[in-house]
Amino acid sequence: MTDGARAATRTGPPPREAETHCPYCALQCGMVLRDTDGRIEVRPRDFPTNRGGLCQKGWTAAELLDHPDRLTTPLVRDPAGELRPASWDVALDRIADGLRTVQRAHGRDAVAVFGGGGLTNEKAYALGKFARVALRTRHIDYNGRWCMSSAAAAGLRAFGVDRGLPFPLTDLGRTGTLLLVGANPAETMPPLMRHLTDQRARGGRLIVVDPRLTATARQADLHLQPLPGTDLAVANALLHIALTEGLIDREYVATRTEGFDAVRRTVAGYWPAEVERLSGVPVADLEETARALGTADSAVILTARGAEQHAKGVDTVSAYVNLALALGLPGRPHSGYGCLTGQGNGQGGREHGQKADQLPGYRKIDDPVARAHVAGVWGIDPAALPGPGVPAYQLLDSLGTPDGPRALLVFGSNPVVSAPRAARVESRLRDLDLLVVADFLRSETAELADVVLPVAQWAEEDGTMTNLEGRVLRRRALREPPPGVRTDLAVLAGLADRLADTPGAPDRFPTDPRTVFAELRRASAGGVADYAGVTWDRIESTDGVFWPCPDPDGPDTPRLFADTFPTPSGRARFHAVQHRPAAEEVCADYPLHFTTGRVLAQYQSGAQTRRVAALHRAAPHGFVELHPDLAARLGIAEGDEVRVASRRGELRAPARLSPTIRPDTVFAPFHWPGAARANSVTNDAVDPVSGMPEFKICAVRVERA
Ligand code: SF4
Repeated sequence: MTDGARAATRTGPPPREAETHCPYCALQCGMVLRDTDGRIEVRPRDFPTNRGGLCQKGWTAAELLDHPDRLTTPLVRDPAGELRPASWDVALDRIADGLRTVQRAHGRDAVAVFGGGGLTNEKAYALGKFARVALRTRHIDYNGRWCMSSAAAAGLRAFGVDRGLPFPLTDLGRTGTLLLVGANPAETMPPLMRHLTDQRARGGRLIVVDPRLTATARQADLHLQPLPGTDLAVANALLHIALTEGLIDREYVATRTEGFDAVRRTVAGYWPAEVERLSGVPVADLEETARALGTADSAVILTARGAEQHAKGVDTVSAYVNLALALGLPGRPHSGYGCLTGQGNGQGGREHGQKADQLPGYRKIDDPVARAHVAGVWGIDPAALPGPGVPAYQLLDSLGTPDGPRALLVFGSNPVVSAPRAARVESRLRDLDLLVVADFLRSETAELADVVLPVAQWAEEDGTMTNLEGRVLRRRALREPPPGVRTDLAVLAGLADRLADTPGAPDRFPTDPRTVFAELRRASAGGVADYAGVTWDRIESTDGVFWPCPDPDGPDTPRLFADTFPTPSGRARFHAVQHRPAAEEVCADYPLHFTTGRVLAQYQSGAQTRRVAALHRAAPHGFVELHPDLAARLGIAEGDEVRVASRRGELRAPARLSPTIRPDTVFAPFHWPGAARANSVTNDAVDPVSGMPEFKICAVRVERA
């Protein structure tokens, strides 16, 4: 049928369109959704981050809106252990009764909340407020701990602020040398590569640090392939060389930073030849990298999960921040340090109170001034605000134990697949008195729940997201949620209503996202992440608004650090950091390094993307990638079922042989549950500062299954 014939015969409502953004990663690619008689089309739109591009995940995102697995009624577990359909009143009453029972018996902190980096700013804000005001528990954290918390901590201690990129993404296209450390945007954020293509077309150099010859590394001018867990030593060696060769920006160091002497003394011991022995990166490559960074007119250093997901992730990021500061990059045109945030709202999700130690506006929950401000907005006594909780893994690992929470509410997360040492986390979840999951699909975590609440998807809700640049964007609804489905905000309001022990408490949890955002603006006013001047109208009249933006009539802040840093002295702070071994080293029983990551066609725990037909066809199952030399030594052929065992558990998946990985390292993507669950193997050691787990390295044994 031609378009003309279709238009002539169509009898349904007129097509509707919504300009919005992809539901998945932090690039937040611009897209247009069009609803023609219930058939949803996705097409890309030109936005500064994606410049008209989408990856396969974005193109197919609408398929989940009407997916047969879509949850459209609450489910409540019956006495026989089956999840059965129930009315909203029955489900919410069951939750409220359960929460009250647990808190009466074990105290306020016996209830915990676990959020997600995909929730809108309004939902993340409301969830933090719900935990502190309605539940009055200190236990809330979110899966953003898995994503970028080490870069956040390192950024805070160096710059006094954590904004993933302190400059617009378009600056990458204009920088002279770009060093990507543990980042693989060609597979995780393909449209970002357009900026890198620009950069190289202008004569810039791309250098990639990654233990695997990834799709991104293949496009690089130089690929450094260190042993997993040695990125910190590589950074210190680069700074050692920069010092030796006189590449340091001495004026910048003297006038804009503090603490360099201790770093200079530390890196003096990182002789390139020794770092080559430790990391496997040749001295010549280290020298070439240091010179490319130190002699370019402009340069950017970016880290991502490969450098950050370690028990020394904060120090590793600090080592690269030190290098950037010593070269005088932060605040200079088309230059600086940044982190490539992963999840869609990983940035906004960590700014507005989902984190165990934070209040909205990136305020610290143990700061009396911050507590007084936020309590004033929430209409409560500051003394009623709980104190800091514990980071995500510590929280999950304490569930159901004598001193831990006995009830958990999960919003927008699937820790059964995505948490480290996942079998242990699964066991902890099973030990709870009450597990509640709000999701739009029956994720692996929902399968364990006592109550499952069906909630709206991205194309069915309005709100805001903050992308990897700190740019606040509008998510626009295309259509109403299906009958039986509620928004997360409505779920929180319904629960607050039932839990209220003071008159008027339910009014504190509005369900209209615009109203919630207006309150968020007030709560964030004066904080580090100040959204007071960000209005929905302003976002809609521009390509988003960069925080901090304290005044509706004043400018926003696309670029930070041009004149000063938001530290007490106005200077950036160096931190001397030392390489140390991974939490678990190889040994005779577990002689190989294991590392995890993502593939192009899947996203995070895969609960969504595994259900999209085209993505499933492209990446139908997990695999174990190993070097042909290692495979030959172990008697493993392409496609053989392989068993990867660590001290914590094992995974089984087909072997995929590739000369692009080091012969001493094996890799598995973490998107699949069951036997192929990579996180059955990973280590739950965490960074002592950020609480980020060491997903990126542990010791394993590999054999044919
Ligand atoms: S790169 Fe990220 S935001 Fe863009 S379409 Fe793909 S998943 Fe969506």
